[in-house]
Amino acid sequence: MRHSSFPQIDSGLEVTLSQVLQDWYAQHRRLLPWRAVPGVRQDPYLVWISEIMLQQTTVATVLPYFTRFLATFPTVTALAHASRDTVLQVWQGLGYYARVRHLHQTAQILEEREGIFPQTTIALQALPGIGPYTAAAIASMAFGVPVLARDANVNRLLSRLSREAGDFVTGDLFSRSVLPGDINQALMDIGALYCRARETACLSCPLRDFCAMYREKRGQKIRPIPKIKSKSRRYAVFFYVQAQDCLLLERRPERGLLGGLYGLPTTSWKKEETEEAPPSALSFLSSWQEGPSFIYHFTHFLLHVRVQKAQLSQLVPFSRPDWFWVPKEQLSHHALPTVFRKAL
Ligand code: SF4
Repeated sequence: MRHSSFPQIDSGLEVTLSQVLQDWYAQHRRLLPWRAVPGVRQDPYLVWISEIMLQQTTVATVLPYFTRFLATFPTVTALAHASRDTVLQVWQGLGYYARVRHLHQTAQILEEREGIFPQTTIALQALPGIGPYTAAAIASMAFGVPVLARDANVNRLLSRLSREAGDFVTGDLFSRSVLPGDINQALMDIGALYCRARETACLSCPLRDFCAMYREKRGQKIRPIPKIKSKSRRYAVFFYVQAQDCLLLERRPERGLLGGLYGLPTTSWKKEETEEAPPSALSFLSSWQEGPSFIYHFTHFLLHVRVQKAQLSQLVPFSRPDWFWVPKEQLSHHALPTVFRKAL
């Protein structure tokens, strides 16, 4: 008997979780336009586009956008050579426009490498907009790398299967797999179809014989997880302007969030993501560089931040009384909230 972090079904022949996932995927997977047939490696371009679109968005919403995007940009080359305006136009309606900016930027980087995707998660993560999850999805589905693609849904499912959440032995999952990507996609599908956040369908779930949560509640109805009110979202661009080892800071208005504290100049924090111009006092600057993007959790909302950077050759005086040049080594002397520190 092999040792595993997951239980095995004892039926004379050992049946592993990995085998059940593969069999289930072969017969019952969701038919999606970016997927290949089971056991066949997927096109990395299709995996990449679909995974970026699926961030923060449901499969049903993504399907028409995916079809239109692929019809317009069928290859990395087509995407790389398209104008930014055209790409934004085709993406329009999907929101989270930082994603498409990174998508376009990455296509141009790949085009310089003859359109060839890197095959390791580390090399994939070096590309703009590709984080650990997307890198694992591309590597496992397109290149057969045995790595778990763990988004919130897969993490939830695995933590219900094994009470020792976070302690997964991926070798167990991928040991007999023809293609690790099929295992990942089976987990994604079962998470979406049976093991949803607020509602489980344990009696028909193909993994119930492996499931710690099901065993503990056998004979009882698993209580739905109480609804968690989802936080609203806001969007802002922070402007990181430096000159001669000084950084431009703004003292925020006394009234309002983070009132009276220091921060980077920002756009207003809008409820929808739109292209925002810098404050008029910075309109003379034309060469902005894309800085980091991140999401910051305030108590009542999530702030999506995109940082734009510019370098000046000298300390330009501004007529705004709330703007200051501050030597970087003196930043710690100013009350700079964490949301701004994350952008430094
Ligand atoms: S048996 Fe229930 S809790 Fe366990 S994986 Fe399936 S749906 Fe989720």
